[in-house]
Amino acid sequence: MSATLTNGTLLSKTVRAEVARRAAQLAAQGCRPGLAVILVGDDPASSIYVRNKINACQESGVHSICDRYPATFTEARLLARIDALNQDPTIHGILVQLPLPSHFNRRTVINAISPDKDVDGLHTMNAGALMSGAPRFLPCTPAGVMRMLAAMHIPLEGSQAVVIGCSESVGKPMALLLLEAGATVAVCHRQTRDLALYTRSAELIVVAAGHPKLLTAEMVKPDAVVIDVGIHRTADGKLCGDVDFDAVRKVAGFITPVPGGVGPMTIGMLLMNTLQAAEYAFKTRP
Ligand code: NAD
Repeated sequence: MSATLTNGTLLSKTVRAEVARRAAQLAAQGCRPGLAVILVGDDPASSIYVRNKINACQESGVHSICDRYPATFTEARLLARIDALNQDPTIHGILVQLPLPSHFNRRTVINAISPDKDVDGLHTMNAGALMSGAPRFLPCTPAGVMRMLAAMHIPLEGSQAVVIGCSESVGKPMALLLLEAGATVAVCHRQTRDLALYTRSAELIVVAAGHPKLLTAEMVKPDAVVIDVGIHRTADGKLCGDVDFDAVRKVAGFITPVPGGVGPMTIGMLLMNTLQAAEYAFKTRP
């Protein structure tokens, strides 16, 4: 038996179509949603992610600007630029592409973004809102995963889930969202002694470790739902995830591919967050 593949590319098209429809309605009233993306340095993967985000904006009727700065750019100048974007009424969402070069304080930079424009959902205020069960902007990747699980009609209440990875932008918010949905959640990480002990009993496994093929078939309970967040480029130039896809798909009930799984959903949710920021700004305009 082979797992049902969840097509994130297709699903993200429905999210983008909804964004395009609502963005057009808003634009007709004089407010075109706008996103500013800031890229510092020349990390090749980051350049591709930023290009994909800008292209997605164009396709969905979202105005976008992209600032590119060299790795030598200073934190003071970056903070000044963010401040200017915070004041810019044509920009409703600001995203600083991570990782930043090591001389930047990531927390200082993220918290310089107005919480009303923090479409990555990483500002301390938005992270706290998620923790308190009243989120405003959800981090895009976990939000995309939740949307996929809903589209797949996966029952979460009372289910046993494992999240592998506990980063601020993926693993931690993912675990909180699953908890809110009624799942019993184990969060595993680099220091977890026996990963398989947790994964083997899980009905849902979300893998966001940044470790190619970390989840193998022996670690998966038959019919489990497996969501692969990881993205890696192999030596032969192909993309793969954190899951040993060919083997795990023979055991799992549902599985997301890489590419074409979580990645497109992340972009879809970024557009949705930008749209919602613009709708809010329009509704509360002076
Ligand atoms: P990160 O490096 O910030 O965090 C990785 C987490 O995984 C850490 O908590 C670490 O403890 C844990 N981990 C690492 N190796 C492990 C192991 N062997 N066993 C158990 N836990 C382990 O990474 P991140 O930003 O959360 O990203 C994770 C992966 O997801 C990366 O491959 C990244 O490229 C990818 N990613 C994809 C999308 C998307 O849209 N598909 C979005 C964000 C990140």
